[in-house]
Amino acid sequence: MARKIIIGNWKMNPLSLRQAEDLFRSIQKSASSKTKINTIICSPFLYLEKLKKLSKKVLVGSQDVFYEEKGAYTGEISAEMLKDIGVKYVIIGHSERRAMGESNIDINKKIKMALSFGLTIILCVGEHERDESHEYLNFIKTQIEECLKGIVKSFLPKIIIAYEPVWAIGRNAVREATPKEFLEISIFIRKILSDKFGAKAIEKTKVIYGGSVNPKNTADFLKEGETDGFLVGRDSLDPEKFGEIINITENI
Ligand code: PEP
Repeated sequence: MARKIIIGNWKMNPLSLRQAEDLFRSIQKSASSKTKINTIICSPFLYLEKLKKLSKKVLVGSQDVFYEEKGAYTGEISAEMLKDIGVKYVIIGHSERRAMGESNIDINKKIKMALSFGLTIILCVGEHERDESHEYLNFIKTQIEECLKGIVKSFLPKIIIAYEPVWAIGRNAVREATPKEFLEISIFIRKILSDKFGAKAIEKTKVIYGGSVNPKNTADFLKEGETDGFLVGRDSLDPEKFGEIINITENI
């Protein structure tokens, strides 16, 4: 059976390297004996190199990357820099970055640059709200088509799609999605991918859920939602809760 994938997105937390290392060690303890899961922690850029050195069972990923290769881009981090310190995964297109102005075109360029350095992409998509006329489905379709424009199917094994409805994310979440809602959207996403790349090419593509994932809803998303894994925000900062999410996923 294909491995599930659990990604922790620490965002701009924790506030010191010491805390980041302690948290990473605790998560690594929970993940160490697991055989059915790949666990990835996406930390702030600043901690990646240190965490990579601690990394055995848990891999590290970044929360963003820039779309140019090198040069006069103050404050940016390149794909080659990430690769150089051993980072293998990168979140691209998180809704919090989109809210700061990142467009599908920017995301497309970032994906292409990251792929060219062998990084695996966690591409976030998701609507802001659900309308009765189902316009949100077109919104998600456009996100996927524009973000993956010009990408050939041989790169698909390096792309994970994270469905993260914006209304279900973070402290301002209206509610979490239901497993049924996730299942419907994951089928929809697979159909879009299959139309673009062919059914065979997407057989192994992972579509994961993100948005208020916690130990209480983990089992339902796995069983009823048939998710390939999770992108976890808040609860990835709590080693006990994240450990529970890991345990539940391993044992289903
Ligand atoms: C996220 O921001 O990617 C996320 C899923 O956050 P949370 O789990 O806190 O809703």
